Amino acid sequence: MTEMVYFDNAATTRISRKALDTYNMASDAYWANPSSLHHEGLKAKSKLEECRKKLSLLLTVPEDTLTFTSCATEADSIIMESFLWAPQCGEVLMPNIEHGALTGFTRLFRQKGWTVTALDAPHGFLDPEDVRSHLSEKTRLVLCMLVNNVMGTIEPVEEIVKVVRSFEQETGRKIHVHTDATQALGKIPFSLVSLDVDSAAFSAHKLHGPKGVGLLYNRNKAITALSRGGEQEAGLRPGTENLPGIMAMTAAVEEALDNEETNLEKVRHLNALLRERFSSLQGVTILTPLEKSSPYILNISTEKYPSEVLTRMLYDKDFCVSSGSACSNNAKQHQGTILSSMQVSPKQSRGSIRISLGNDNTEEEVMALADALSGLLGGD
Ligand code: PLP
Repeated sequence: MTEMVYFDNAATTRISRKALDTYNMASDAYWANPSSLHHEGLKAKSKLEECRKKLSLLLTVPEDTLTFTSCATEADSIIMESFLWAPQCGEVLMPNIEHGALTGFTRLFRQKGWTVTALDAPHGFLDPEDVRSHLSEKTRLVLCMLVNNVMGTIEPVEEIVKVVRSFEQETGRKIHVHTDATQALGKIPFSLVSLDVDSAAFSAHKLHGPKGVGLLYNRNKAITALSRGGEQEAGLRPGTENLPGIMAMTAAVEEALDNEETNLEKVRHLNALLRERFSSLQGVTILTPLEKSSPYILNISTEKYPSEVLTRMLYDKDFCVSSGSACSNNAKQHQGTILSSMQVSPKQSRGSIRISLGNDNTEEEVMALADALSGLLGGD
């Protein structure tokens, strides 16, 4: 069987050798329940807290702000559900470009009596001034993802938070700002401290860690749990902790941050090669803006084929790319909303495909993809 060439790293990444070895070792050596009070349980608990400590140092935030979850979706949900069930309704500013893990709450918020204001991101970016003009005395929650998973745009989270904080000062009302940083961690440099957000969501499997484990950063003590049960994770995320997953995620985050600069340089180069080749191909439009975008994601559109047809043709040539966000059942529709919010025309949106690079991709692979696309489009 031919090896597939994988360009769908925004959907998930292959687990790294170090993370997999850590997972296997931990499953064998630290299998006890970290809540058990016997020796084996205490050993597991100590590893769990070691991971929290390490992640707190890597992310430069206090240990008690970090909660282990099962994925980024759960980390997002803890924040959303906590507001949803709050005794008082208010307004949430929910950009149209957010992941379904957040936009999926729109209807529920409205049903509960909240106002949900959807913000557009013209040309790919939310505008802090637009956020400012929508803030009101009802606003309780502002969302702004760090890297958009469809387009790769790096959103101006720091500027948006500044606008929110100055509004808070004027009005004396607290507004919670949440960022979904799933596509950013270990890929583009950022600091939670400088961003000054109240909470952030992360996922291990997007950075060569295992599936089924994520992380919530949250400094707002008023946030309440999504589930009921035990007192694990200070009661914010009841349920027995996935210690092997958490240890492997910690190893993956450390590895990704240690190599972030080198990987970024490499992926920038691969992205530039693709852009160069695609810009010389007739009928291809590069949708991802060159400036202020993550080089890990490149969204392009062709006139000749709808995205599902082109992705299928590329699969047949052993390339894995994506026609939308892999995590949503109605991915096509959701991607359409995101792209139209970014002012991509319906025609370009229909032909859009996402190429998401990883640090294990090579020059040969990107050249082969460009050649394959060129062949399908009738040569360059
Ligand atoms: N948020 C963003 C921006 C994503 O890209 C994804 C996955 O594609 C998720 C959340 C969901 O991540 P998980 O699979 O860990 O729930």
